[in-house]
Amino acid sequence: MRIVVIGGGAAGYFAAIHARTTDPTAEVFLFERTRTPLAKVRISGGGRCNVTHDERGSRRLAANYPRGERFLRKAFQQFAVNGTVEWFAARGVRLKTEKDGRMFPVSDRSSTIIEALQEAAARAGVRVRLGLPVTHIRAGPPFLTRITDAAHFSADRVIVATGGAPRASGLQWLQDLGVAIVPPVPSLFTLNLPEDGITALMGVTVDRVRLTISGTRIEATGPLLITHWGLSGPAALRLSAWGAIMLHERGYETEVRIDWTGGTKVGKVHSVIDALRSERSDKILRNCAPFGLPNRVWTYLVDRVRIRPGKRCGDLGRHDRDRLTEVLINDRHTMRGKTTFKEEFVTAGGVDLKHVDPHTMMSRTVPGLFFAGEVLDIDGITGGFNFQAAWTTGAIAGRHAVLS
Ligand SMILES: Cc1cc2nc3c(=O)[nH]c(=O)nc-3n(C[C@H](O)[C@H](O)[C@H](O)COP(=O)(O)OP(=O)(O)OC[C@H]3O[C@@H](n4cnc5c(N)ncnc54)[C@H](O)[C@@H]3O)c2cc1C
Repeated sequence: MRIVVIGGGAAGYFAAIHARTTDPTAEVFLFERTRTPLAKVRISGGGRCNVTHDERGSRRLAANYPRGERFLRKAFQQFAVNGTVEWFAARGVRLKTEKDGRMFPVSDRSSTIIEALQEAAARAGVRVRLGLPVTHIRAGPPFLTRITDAAHFSADRVIVATGGAPRASGLQWLQDLGVAIVPPVPSLFTLNLPEDGITALMGVTVDRVRLTISGTRIEATGPLLITHWGLSGPAALRLSAWGAIMLHERGYETEVRIDWTGGTKVGKVHSVIDALRSERSDKILRNCAPFGLPNRVWTYLVDRVRIRPGKRCGDLGRHDRDRLTEVLINDRHTMRGKTTFKEEFVTAGGVDLKHVDPHTMMSRTVPGLFFAGEVLDIDGITGGFNFQAAWTTGAIAGRHAVLS
């Protein structure tokens, strides 16, 4: 049995190692087109590598994937966060969990993860070949993979782990093989709000807001960071992931609504402001930020509905209360453009999951052909979910390539 893994990223390494450890008699070759395998692991998580997320239930874990949720629910039955934690622990890499659930190597260095993967591959006997791009596959088995323009290499099974392709043309070689492709679009970006007064608040973070794309049900909740170009932080990135396709269709121009209370009901917001009017009547409005909002944000909002921030709370009328409530829960801004998030970006789209078996990662249309990682139409929100999908699909593809 000869297996060719195409792509030396997280998913490709994991697949190759699992193939060899499942069947040590199988020959496993890994072809990587560059001379630097695992390059994304190196730069990931700001150089720390956010390996996974501390979310142990399959269903709850899968809920973090705008594309691939149902598919992954099945895959996580075989290999999920516990599998990742135990696999790295068995190779001497302990992971730690941060307050928000993100898991990193205790060393805080992505090189720890790279070394563990490379050592495991060498120990398992994976034959890693660098600087060799696969440009074409002829359906098999035996498959014939064309490497550069000259050499051909035959294989009984092929695992494609080539990562996300920013353009559909990058997946043409798979389409030629009869693999259905969902056109790729970017995910995980920040929202540009040019010439919007809110950018004067740059550097301010708010612990919990709810963002919504107007006219849709697409929303995201979490911390918000205001930058000099617009909105960033987990809430904005999650919105970009859930809205990746819709935002692409709208040319990244749309109205975004900020609920600064993080999803509080109107009646409750009314009573919070009524309490300001009655219980803090002597106090100056600008000093009475509700919902734990930073004073700068509160002053901005008060100003936005044309109420004098120097007014006393007791002088607020019912109409003022209604205007403050509206701006607190329904503050509208116009997004114009996006900015790539430097810490982590991924592509939505890729190999259509309808044609892949989630229990084996084998193509339903080309038997013997397997997929792993971001080449699949799977992407998660930021926080370690994208690597988890790579470990899960890589482990399953590797095991089943030798078992099928
Ligand atoms: C800056 C940045 C930071 C990130 N940080 C995190 C993070 O902290 N946590 C997280 O969960 N996710 C993170 N991600 C996302 C994560 O890196 C990817 O989801 C993950 O790397 C996907 O793994 P992969 O193996 O499928 O693809 P890749 O890592 O992209 O690997 C694919 C490999 O295949 C090779 N290849 C492609 N085509 C061919 C070919 N034809 N022949 C041979 N080789 C080929 C490529 O050169 C590449 O080495 C980050 C992404 C970026 C860009």
